[in-house]
Amino acid sequence: KPILLWFRQDLRLSDNPALTAAVASGARVLPVYVLDDKTPGHWAPGGAARWWLHHSLASLGRDLEQCGNRLHLVSSDNAAETIRELAKSTGAAAVYWNRCYEPFAIERDTELKSALKADGIEAESFNASLLFEPWEVKTKSGTPPKVFSPYWRALRALGEPEAPEPAPERVAPLKAAPASEKLEDWDLLPTKPDWAVGFHDHWTPGETSAQVRLDRFLETALDDYKEGRNFPAKPNVSRLSPHLHFGEIGPRQVWHRTVAHCHAADRNPFAGSAEHFLKELVWREFSYSLLYHNPDLPEACLRPEFENFPWDSSEKPLSAWQRGKTGIPIVDAGMRELWQTGYMHNRVRMICASFLIKHLMVDWRAGEAWFWDTLLDADLASNSASWQWVAGSGADAAPYFRIFNPVLQGEKFDPDGTYTRRWVPELADVPDRYLQKPWEAPGNPAPDYPAPIVDLAEGRERALAAYQDLGEAE
Ligand code: FAD
Repeated sequence: KPILLWFRQDLRLSDNPALTAAVASGARVLPVYVLDDKTPGHWAPGGAARWWLHHSLASLGRDLEQCGNRLHLVSSDNAAETIRELAKSTGAAAVYWNRCYEPFAIERDTELKSALKADGIEAESFNASLLFEPWEVKTKSGTPPKVFSPYWRALRALGEPEAPEPAPERVAPLKAAPASEKLEDWDLLPTKPDWAVGFHDHWTPGETSAQVRLDRFLETALDDYKEGRNFPAKPNVSRLSPHLHFGEIGPRQVWHRTVAHCHAADRNPFAGSAEHFLKELVWREFSYSLLYHNPDLPEACLRPEFENFPWDSSEKPLSAWQRGKTGIPIVDAGMRELWQTGYMHNRVRMICASFLIKHLMVDWRAGEAWFWDTLLDADLASNSASWQWVAGSGADAAPYFRIFNPVLQGEKFDPDGTYTRRWVPELADVPDRYLQKPWEAPGNPAPDYPAPIVDLAEGRERALAAYQDLGEAE
């Protein structure tokens, strides 16, 4: 009897415990991917993520063919029901999958497990996406850590994460596999207009290129990561986030390869830049823990008093921000990098999010939704935890009075303007000293660039006053 292997956010063959277990059982395996935009509700993959998904599935399909198998594609409004029917119609003994942690996925998978059991079909789930399960990382008193440093300590106290398994050489196919849908028919790629046309210059989805990217990062960029990661023009970040989101590489692979790389160079992986990089990987884990323990994290302020914030819901500020036309150079650079490449550097994500929430007083959920649609790495846990962190409404949040000054941030982290000028070419002729505040430059050197949408000092005072009112109303 065959085993049905349900691929979800684990689009890889190595370090894939569900696949390893299926192959080890000696059974024939039917690998399946179900496109279901209904079950996730608001959180079906956004536009940019669909582009990635298309190419990632194509790559996984090719890799499975190398192993003598084929990826079975099926679209449906109810993935769980489709899997159940497929398991029955192929006479499967079991369905294996790697766990997802989005609230809708947990609910779906829990119900599916009982339904399959009722059908007499075994259902088994594994961990491929996290170093440790969110319920394993606990403080000494047994509660989930609410802030990052205790989370890191509690995770380290669990020892090293499990070592990853290599990819199988062969995945025995079903003798008569059902007919698959065609990836091209799913229309995951944009056509008119093809706004993703530039993505290929920056990205190659798939397991092999994820591995290549990690190796190149370790060889060329890790040493200066701690400092360099703050400067958007520097090549010191890994850009692994979309690969990690789609599970083309697992965090355990990243962890163990980083540690091995340091040991090979006789360096301590738990110091300096290497430790900092591992900690960022654990910020991802921490976000998953926050989502797991607070299932409404994407929709509701963790600190409920923030629901009373007087948000500006008019069209203009949000639309100027989305289009990179706020007149604030570092913000516009980030928003245009996002639109053109499907990615934005972390430092600039923080600046753009802070500007939207604080200077423009737009609800963080509007920014979260835009990022969801435009980021290739759009991830429910990391996106919602990060937006709440910037808004000050989350658990481990930036204090509300820390309002980034985008001019000073731009001057500090893009000192020679390389990043800003790259994405905002209208500013090419503005001298460095005015680049982040072109409205002060004599002689109007950027006539095509908009005036600032808000006076930064006034915007800051307005936000502080609104936050203060919240405190008093508490
Ligand atoms: P690196 O610096 O090379 O870090 C390595 C890995 O660690 C990343 O790939 C990522 O998986 C993880 N990581 C790093 N920083 C964080 C962080 N602050 N929180 C969680 N994980 C982190 N990240 C997403 O993956 N998806 C999102 O949807 C997302 N939305 C964000 C929204 C806002 C407003 C902000 C401020 C941050 C968001 N982040 C998100 C976190 C972070 O910006 C990205 O993970 C990071 O920029 C990815 O680039 P990198 O792979 O080069 O990171």
